[in-house]
Amino acid sequence: MSPQSGSRLRQFISDLFGIDPATIANVKERGKDIRLACIIGLLVSTSFAVFNLTVGFVALGLIEGAAALLLLPAAYFLSHSERMLSAETLVMLSAIIINAALFHFGGVDSTGIYWILSLPFITFFVTGQRRGWLWAFGFLVLLLFIPSAAGISQTQEVHFFFGMLFYMVLAASFNMLRVRFEEKLARQVKEKTAVATAYLEQLQFLAKHDELTGLPNREGILDLLDDEIKRQAEDSEALVVIYIKLIRIIELINIVGTEQGAVLFAQIVANLKNAVQRSGKAGRLGRDEFVFFFSCKDLDLEASGWLASTLGAGFECLLGNQTVNIEYVAGACIHGDEAEAEVLLRKAEQAMLTAKEAHYDFFIYNADNDREFISHHLLFSKLRKALQQNQLEMYYQPQVDLHTGRLTGAEALARWTDPTEGPIPPLFFIPVAEQSGLIFPLTRWVIATAIAQCAQWRNAGLDLGIAINLSARNLADADLLAYLENMATDFCVPPEKITMELTEGVFLDISQKSANVIRHMHEKGFRISIDDYGTGYSSLSYIKGLPVTELKIDQCFIKGIMESHSDALIVQSTIDMALQLDLEVVAEGVEEASIVSQLRDFGCRVGQGYYFGRPMSAVAFDLWAQQDACAAKAQA
Ligand code: C2E
Ligand code: MG
Ligand code: MG
Repeated sequence: MSPQSGSRLRQFISDLFGIDPATIANVKERGKDIRLACIIGLLVSTSFAVFNLTVGFVALGLIEGAAALLLLPAAYFLSHSERMLSAETLVMLSAIIINAALFHFGGVDSTGIYWILSLPFITFFVTGQRRGWLWAFGFLVLLLFIPSAAGISQTQEVHFFFGMLFYMVLAASFNMLRVRFEEKLARQVKEKTAVATAYLEQLQFLAKHDELTGLPNREGILDLLDDEIKRQAEDSEALVVIYIKLIRIIELINIVGTEQGAVLFAQIVANLKNAVQRSGKAGRLGRDEFVFFFSCKDLDLEASGWLASTLGAGFECLLGNQTVNIEYVAGACIHGDEAEAEVLLRKAEQAMLTAKEAHYDFFIYNADNDREFISHHLLFSKLRKALQQNQLEMYYQPQVDLHTGRLTGAEALARWTDPTEGPIPPLFFIPVAEQSGLIFPLTRWVIATAIAQCAQWRNAGLDLGIAINLSARNLADADLLAYLENMATDFCVPPEKITMELTEGVFLDISQKSANVIRHMHEKGFRISIDDYGTGYSSLSYIKGLPVTELKIDQCFIKGIMESHSDALIVQSTIDMALQLDLEVVAEGVEEASIVSQLRDFGCRVGQGYYFGRPMSAVAFDLWAQQDACAAKAQA
């Protein structure tokens, strides 16, 4: 016999006789077995009782009925209270009484024997392997003393004894197999449940955490924030939520690849975790967005101080052997009484977006910003509609030759009257158009309208130039120059009659691409004017490389030349310098006759301002030009 089969045999014997307590079904399982046996026993024995009483076996029927109805229901209820031994004893007593009666009345060599054979199965099923043997042997011995067994021969007795023994082994084996099967099933269910539970836990974790960094995600951070808000309700401390967006990290990861990107993120997260160790919690909301929250006493100061001291100007990370500094922009929101987690997070994000737009590092949320944002957004929607519905109007302000008094041209200025709000000044709607991109269609409309108007004047015999304002963003419009050229050609206006005005600020911070657009415009013959000159750095170094035709001195200097000596000096020296550089000079904001003569003395050729005429509609401009009012005024 091989050692393996030896140990199998030992295991079999141990299981069969219930030597190892682990092989006996547990209390809960046995409770179920007992209840099942009770129900089956009750049904079978009451049916037999009724049958026997009907056919005249009164004593047998009564014994069966009494045993079934008294003992089995009691066993059923006892098994629930886990008093297994008592329940088991009652079932066995009932089985023994009924089987002994059947045996006695049926006779050992007649029908009685059939019923006896079921007993080992009931015994092992109800009492388990170990006690099953005791009950079965006890019952076997008892049977030999039953009066009807007295008449049987010794040979029959031996047959009976061994027959019963065989059935006992059979019943014990069946029961053992049943228990083994149940155990195996239970083990498998447990294993599978453990796997499923692990998956479920992982899914639950991922639902609330970011896979890459292990930090809580939006859902997770909202839960944590909720808990913190509840805790704060009992505490007097305030809660600060900081929303951080890393700058250009996505671009960096796209360049260095995801593997290096993961290393980079690991360092950033370590940095963040380190920073919030003090009292806060951190989470990751998007690829490049993180959030923190922590409690503090001195709200604004602590929030900004914390950020400055812990994160500094950025996160220092190692990329290979190079140190890179990942910059960030952050917004904070301080917990108010009514705030919910979701609202706090949204406000912190809003503050971050405000900081980003204003090019700050950090900004603390305040409700005024929301109002500003909403009115900005409303203005944007209205302006878009106004453009679609052609609600904008073009006004023209005369430009006059200060020496001859002749009208030389006009500046085209956009006007917008909203049906409900009335006139909205360009200083309000032009910035909205610039930020939203509406400046592109708006400028095209201005170009088309102004050039068409210029052509109309020329056809009417007025040789006027037209000045059109451009925003910095217009220089990013690749097709702008082609559009301008087309308009000039279509309306037969020579490019040298068209001046493109760009404010001084545009020239100060100009990209190569934008500078090229200006160069190309100049090459095509269009005039280039520096608008609001003097409001920037007032250094002409930037025009060295750019083709500028004209300088428009800002009205803030012009208005003061009669009262302020320094203004007069600035204007005079600007005019001198411009003339030396061969630039045309236009004075903006001319409001008085005295200013006209002073400017003339300084050598300024062209003036524009309320003194000559305010910006006016095309119809009003025509009337004004016909009256030749400018000539009279310039002579004054
Ligand atoms: P700007 O190009 O410097 O235009 C001159 C501004 O000064 C105009 O204001 C004009 O009405 C005002 N002005 C002219 N003479 C006088 C004067 O004697 N006294 C005073 N107090 N003001 C005078 P407006 O029309 O309100 O335009 C403001 C700015 O809005 C313009 O400044 C220009 O930068 C911008 N803008 C107007 N229309 C357009 C446009 O179609 N496109 C672009 N990109 N910007 C425009
Ligand atoms: Mg202008
Ligand atoms: Mg100006």
